[in-house]
Amino acid sequence: MKKNVFSFGVILLVLLAIGGSYSFSFKTKKPKVKKIIFIIGDGMGLAQISGAMSETNEQNAFERFKVIGLSKTSSADNYVTDSGAGATVFANGKKTFNGAIGVGVDSLPCLNLFEMMKKKKMATGVVATSSITHATPACFYAHVASRKSQDDIAEFLLENNCDIAIGGGTKFITNRKDKVNLTELLQRNGFLVKTDTTNDFTPINAQKFVYTLAYDGMKKKLEGRNDFLKRASINAIEQLNKNKNGYMVMIEGSQIDWGGHDNDYNYMKTELYDLNETINAVLDYAEKQGDVLVVVTADHETGGLTLLENKENKKLFKINYSTGGHSGIMVPVFAFGPGAEMFGGIYENTEIHFKFKKMLGLE
Ligand code: MG
Ligand code: ZN
Repeated sequence: MKKNVFSFGVILLVLLAIGGSYSFSFKTKKPKVKKIIFIIGDGMGLAQISGAMSETNEQNAFERFKVIGLSKTSSADNYVTDSGAGATVFANGKKTFNGAIGVGVDSLPCLNLFEMMKKKKMATGVVATSSITHATPACFYAHVASRKSQDDIAEFLLENNCDIAIGGGTKFITNRKDKVNLTELLQRNGFLVKTDTTNDFTPINAQKFVYTLAYDGMKKKLEGRNDFLKRASINAIEQLNKNKNGYMVMIEGSQIDWGGHDNDYNYMKTELYDLNETINAVLDYAEKQGDVLVVVTADHETGGLTLLENKENKKLFKINYSTGGHSGIMVPVFAFGPGAEMFGGIYENTEIHFKFKKMLGLE
């Protein structure tokens, strides 16, 4: 009898130990982060990164990531996505039709991450080198059936789900088709508003602001945009970080895509260097803070770019574009910081949304 009690006790201890280590490993697999910096290189596929980064002495920010995944980019109605459907999946988690901004296949609005975060009083923001109302940033705060409706998209800023917006797009605030100047309405909603066309960035000290520095898209890097993206991104992060409940900021290298559409390798390359510099600055910041998840990816590849053998100089490569549009190849996902390990593997682009949601405790 005594022996039975003893073996029962041993079994119980073993079970408790297994249970304990199980719950421990369970916990370490599901970290909760309150701070996410999400960086999108629009149209940035592996050929863009490989080609551009092989020709520079700048620190390769992409090589600083230990966790890499691949995202399948198809939209609901096309194997080859556009940037509207391509960013709607990140914000809303739903595959939709090309051209859609934050709406499902039924054209109805679907709840996005920023809206869910606002219910938890977290801070949100977008920074872009396009207009702040262009497809990629728009998906994070607006719901319209067509990406072309940039006047309508700007009005969604009045819903107060996006605290900070920095980029181009002054005309969609102050020179709209309906003749309504959104400045005063935004101010009434608590935004500090700065609209100009200088392309010359000055940091803002406010937790809620709309700042447009160009009439439509920002200048090309080649035309003297300087280090706008890096400085605006750090400015947004520092202001959003004042909210103790946490934040998410979407930073977009918008014009990597535009260089691709033009089949202009030098345009693409200089825009990618600009994003590389921004990622390095963001990683330096995240390393110091220790509690920030940084994820870098693309919505799709642009140009069908390939790097071919250069028979005249075999140490170089020959650039070949196969389209003026997008391609359907998988794009890389780079993750750094707490929770980064969740981004390894191959998955649909919608998964990026669900990973963010899980980490921010939004479900
Ligand atoms: Mg874009
Ligand atoms: Zn594009």
